[in-house]
Amino acid sequence: MTSATESASANGTATSEESKSENHPIESPQPAAANMPDKFDFDLFVIGTGPGGEGAAMQAAKGGLKVGVAERYRQIGGGCTHWGTIPSKALRYAVTSTMKSLKNPVMREMGFAVSPTMEQLNRGTQAIIGRQVSMRQSFYDRNNVPIFRGQARFLDEYTISIDNGEHITARSFVISTGSRPYRPPGVDFSHPRIFDSDTILEMKDKPSSITVYGAGVIGTEYASMFRNLGIKVNLINTREKLLEFLDDEIIDALSYHLRDQGVIIRHNEAMESIEGQDDGVILNLKSGKILKTDVFLWANGRQGNTDDLGLENLPIEANSRGQVIVDEQFQTCVPNIYAVGDVIGIPSLASAAYTQGRAAGMHLLGRVDGNLRLHDIPTGIYTSPEISSVGHTERELTERCVPYEVGQAQFRSLARAQITGETTGMLKLLFHRETKEILGVHCFGANASEIVHIGQAIMNQPGRQNTIEYFIETTFNYPTMAEAYRVAALNGINRLF
Ligand SMILES: Cc1cc2nc3c(=O)[nH]c(=O)nc-3n(C[C@H](O)[C@H](O)[C@H](O)COP(=O)(O)OP(=O)(O)OC[C@H]3O[C@@H](n4cnc5c(N)ncnc54)[C@H](O)[C@@H]3O)c2cc1C
Repeated sequence: MTSATESASANGTATSEESKSENHPIESPQPAAANMPDKFDFDLFVIGTGPGGEGAAMQAAKGGLKVGVAERYRQIGGGCTHWGTIPSKALRYAVTSTMKSLKNPVMREMGFAVSPTMEQLNRGTQAIIGRQVSMRQSFYDRNNVPIFRGQARFLDEYTISIDNGEHITARSFVISTGSRPYRPPGVDFSHPRIFDSDTILEMKDKPSSITVYGAGVIGTEYASMFRNLGIKVNLINTREKLLEFLDDEIIDALSYHLRDQGVIIRHNEAMESIEGQDDGVILNLKSGKILKTDVFLWANGRQGNTDDLGLENLPIEANSRGQVIVDEQFQTCVPNIYAVGDVIGIPSLASAAYTQGRAAGMHLLGRVDGNLRLHDIPTGIYTSPEISSVGHTERELTERCVPYEVGQAQFRSLARAQITGETTGMLKLLFHRETKEILGVHCFGANASEIVHIGQAIMNQPGRQNTIEYFIETTFNYPTMAEAYRVAALNGINRLF
């Protein structure tokens, strides 16, 4: 039997305590409705096999429920595995590792001056996706969760059809149908030079220039990745700052480094029109600016996948972005129907979708107070430099008049960073100047998305155990990037008087 840890650890979200198998009584989600069947095919039926669906299905199956899932794509794993997280991160790894090797002076001395093709850079991706799919398929198989292939549509709150054929009844449902790029009217996405974040990975030839419209996480990550490949990049931001939800100092650092690498960033812009031509794409901006590049990537907004789900047969209404509204337990206005992941909107992360799916599964099992930390979702942004943060920003603490202090460690002062040559970056700890509790961890630089979890672990300790002093009293391996915590903690404590 697969343990919950096995399925969860692949997503990096579970603790061993949370992973223990549960056998709680099944709570009926609501009093019997008039059209409730006497017998159900399943206790829970999950629509979509991305991280949200998998989290819900595995949690419920482990708890003893009879679970089935539907997937309309030819393979399981969701957008996360096939056109989102996994392929984009695989490409990023291929780009950074290849370009790092090519920039190595020893390679140059040996006469290596080649430029990889998109096909070469993408070559490893399919193998990684294949491994992910077969591993995830084994979770469903070993937990006796059948997968129904096809488009699931609600006929009523207890019944769905698969591809308008087979009818399946279930006591409860989880909608985990994910999202897709929002496509504005007037943009010809069938043009061979105009892409969105789902189609960009199919780009055959490496362009010499690209305009990325939309400077959210996906747009910024792709802008950074393409610049690393030596491509000229325009990054068009519709807002005042890049990634406004981050700490201001991190935003400034990211803007500085992207500009330093040669990305041209334009803030506060709005599209007037996009014109695909034989030799490039012209972007006309409302400000009067006109940009022409070889290719164009639209990365401005996403739309929940609810349009062909039969919601018209339920009292559930999706908003203008196709998203479903849920309460704290991920229940929609129809209590036996839950929704998790991208289809409910922000934070729209694979990591969060998985945890939300598990939370819905726990709620179904009667574990309303499951010990999942649903409000403690870290941010990981895979730009160069990488960014990660968890907890409060300085802006938030200042607004709330919290007396906090800052401790910083610059990566350039760490032996490990000097050895690897990855000296760009810093770790910043925000802590309460009286209680010394850690309030926020913000990091940019190599491995930021891993480093942040050390701080997160201490920040989540109960009561007085959450203290910055832990990092002063602890011996770190040497040389490591983790040492940044001791340096930052000392830096912060020394500011107190
Ligand atoms: C380019 C890119 C990079 C990203 N990078 C990261 C990252 O680094 N880290 C991170 O945490 N997140 C990242 N994300 C976000 C992450 O991919 C999503 O948050 C995650 O996939 C959401 O999971 P989900 O389960 O809600 O939906 P999905 O993974 O999209 O899965 C939904 C599934 O439902 C199926 N489906 C839809 N409707 C139906 C239906 N009616 N019947 C049957 N099946 C249906 C779909 O075919 C799909 O398989 C990235 C996204 C993109 C686009």
